[in-house]
Amino acid sequence: RMQRLRARLARSGTIGQTLLSILSRGDLAENDWEEIEETLLLADVGVGPTTELMDKLRTETKVLGTSDAEQVRAVLRRELLELVDPTMDRVLHVEPAIGDDGQPHPATVLVVGVNGTGKTTTVGKLARLLVAEDHDVVLGAADTFRAAAADQLSTWGARVGVPVVRSEREGADPAAVAFDAVKEGRGAGADVVLVDTAGRLQNKAGLMDELGKIKRVMSRQAPVREVLLVLDATTGQNGMRQAEVFSQAVDITGIVLTKLDGTAKGGIVVAVQRELGVPVKFVGLGEGPDDLAPFEPEEFVDALLS
Ligand code: GDP
Repeated sequence: RMQRLRARLARSGTIGQTLLSILSRGDLAENDWEEIEETLLLADVGVGPTTELMDKLRTETKVLGTSDAEQVRAVLRRELLELVDPTMDRVLHVEPAIGDDGQPHPATVLVVGVNGTGKTTTVGKLARLLVAEDHDVVLGAADTFRAAAADQLSTWGARVGVPVVRSEREGADPAAVAFDAVKEGRGAGADVVLVDTAGRLQNKAGLMDELGKIKRVMSRQAPVREVLLVLDATTGQNGMRQAEVFSQAVDITGIVLTKLDGTAKGGIVVAVQRELGVPVKFVGLGEGPDDLAPFEPEEFVDALLS
């Protein structure tokens, strides 16, 4: 049956379509309940949250004395929304602050994640969003491992009209570049500094050391306000494992879930937040500069169910 469901998901493209087709059957039989459960699992909602959701769904519909599809749908919507938790703080905290020396210092945001998840693209898009909100932004290319990474960030800087601090030397100390970026941000009176980092997961100890050091060294210029973890929504449980490793390396304050445009697996939002206790703050919906959106729980749940 999982195979049949998988095929149906592939055809319809969204779990919403699959759920709706199950929920359009009128009074739900045991079989239908199981299909709802499997659909949630296939959408990467995760075993824990799915079990929790199904228990609530069954209990509440029992209380209501109905298995009427419309009512089940309403309960599912409410419970999904509760799981996504609209009360989490999803604001990107880049409010102005005054340093120990009485001078204003920029809000710094460290962006971490495995290579290929969309980190650099996210830094570019985020800069675009912040500039549109009248922030003065400086970017730091602390992914010094690959020269192409700094080039890519420079391209984004030019595209959105913000300066990029980088090292011309491949293999330069990423913490030094991050430090310079914040320093330059301070000097230029910028109010936000976004720092892109490398994400080589094959060397876990090295990665942890590197991120810890970057954060420490940046903090000498200004406290690191946000650490955003970029996760690729299409990688499912793999993304969850990455999230665990990164959250051991550095305190994550928010998640950016990229490539939600290319997947029916949006349920990963629920799994990731539950697992890490950290809110999804933005979602990536494409490769262009305007394809980053603040995460809206209601909108998200409605999209899942439409
Ligand atoms: P990095 O190695 O983590 O810095 O990843 P990149 O920023 O280089 O992105 C890797 C690829 O994913 C690029 O081709 C991006 O255009 C693409 N990408 C990034 N974010 C999104 C997104 O939200 N949707 C889609 N469809 N593609 C994305």
